[in-house]
Amino acid sequence: MNTLLLGSTKEDIKTAADILQNGGVVAMPTETVYGLAADALDGEAVKKIFLAKRRPMDNPLIVHIAEVGDIERFNLVSEFPEKAKKLAEKFWPGPLTIIMKKSSVIPDEVSAGLSTVAIRLPSHKVARELIKESGTVLAAPSANRSGSPSPTTAQHVMNDLCGDIQAVVDGGMCDVGVESTVITLATKTPRLLRPGLVTVEQIEEVIGHIDVDHAVLFKLESDEKVSSPGMKYKHYAPKAKVVLLSGDSEKFIRFVNAEFEKDSSVGAICYDEDIDSLLCNTIPIGKADDLEAQAHLLFDALRQVDKQGGFTTVYAHCPTKTGVGMALYNRLIRAASFEVISLE
Ligand code: AMP
Ligand code: MG
Repeated sequence: MNTLLLGSTKEDIKTAADILQNGGVVAMPTETVYGLAADALDGEAVKKIFLAKRRPMDNPLIVHIAEVGDIERFNLVSEFPEKAKKLAEKFWPGPLTIIMKKSSVIPDEVSAGLSTVAIRLPSHKVARELIKESGTVLAAPSANRSGSPSPTTAQHVMNDLCGDIQAVVDGGMCDVGVESTVITLATKTPRLLRPGLVTVEQIEEVIGHIDVDHAVLFKLESDEKVSSPGMKYKHYAPKAKVVLLSGDSEKFIRFVNAEFEKDSSVGAICYDEDIDSLLCNTIPIGKADDLEAQAHLLFDALRQVDKQGGFTTVYAHCPTKTGVGMALYNRLIRAASFEVISLE
């Protein structure tokens, strides 16, 4: 299949919406990462997302809406809880996904057979225009090949899915850079299933205490039941080995330089301030204290590891687990297959 690379003019959005209305799949920019969209109310169209990504069918998708009113207009949920309304009011449009009990209009392909549906109202102008223009709501997981880092540019999408999807709408580089925060309200106590730019602390200010699912910060035991199917799949890993180092920058630099003396194929995903002191090839991800900048660049950095090539092991700082750090930690710990060396 020939994959159209579209811009984001009105014409381009019309072309993309036409493809969606005809049951096709199109990659679209959002403020988090690029999404691979299909009509969420058409099970056959949604199946094509799984095929293109090679995504396991038991991993449900997020439904993207253009305005809060779409939840009732399209009758997406069987219950729209008060807490969901409060979260929507505070964080939508934006990088928060809310899981609620689904209605019967949600095809099994979207919910992967669960009784719930994940919903998000993105803030990206192009995403919202495309949803509106398509006249429906759009199921869209990240537009990467399953297992590889999520795409934050149209080029990342083309690298992974060119030939497998009808079109990519190029809306520039994604601002946030990591996927949305996912919270379920279908449990007795609200539960965080995936950390993102909207933090636990911010959510708790609006709806009080929430639980953080064990799998957000810890490796799943082989017999552990998962709350979110996506948690059990390998994620974000470049081909080279990634190892996290916990300790301050001075210790990081000393350790990486010593390793580089022994093996010149060692590299580092590092803070901007480290570059001059490191002997190895570096992939900087922003200033040490700027977690949002690090989130913005993280997936591009992981893709750079393979693009630059020649690395056997790449060391990265182990992020803090609070605030936006939790989102960075959750992605990096998976990229590193949970391998952390303590330099304390
Ligand atoms: P992606 O769109 O690639 O960011 O993946 C969506 C994430 O949301 C995956 O980790 C899914 O497992 C999770 N998710 C989507 N719908 C549900 C749901 N109904 N219940 C639990 N997790 C969900
Ligand atoms: Mg994904």
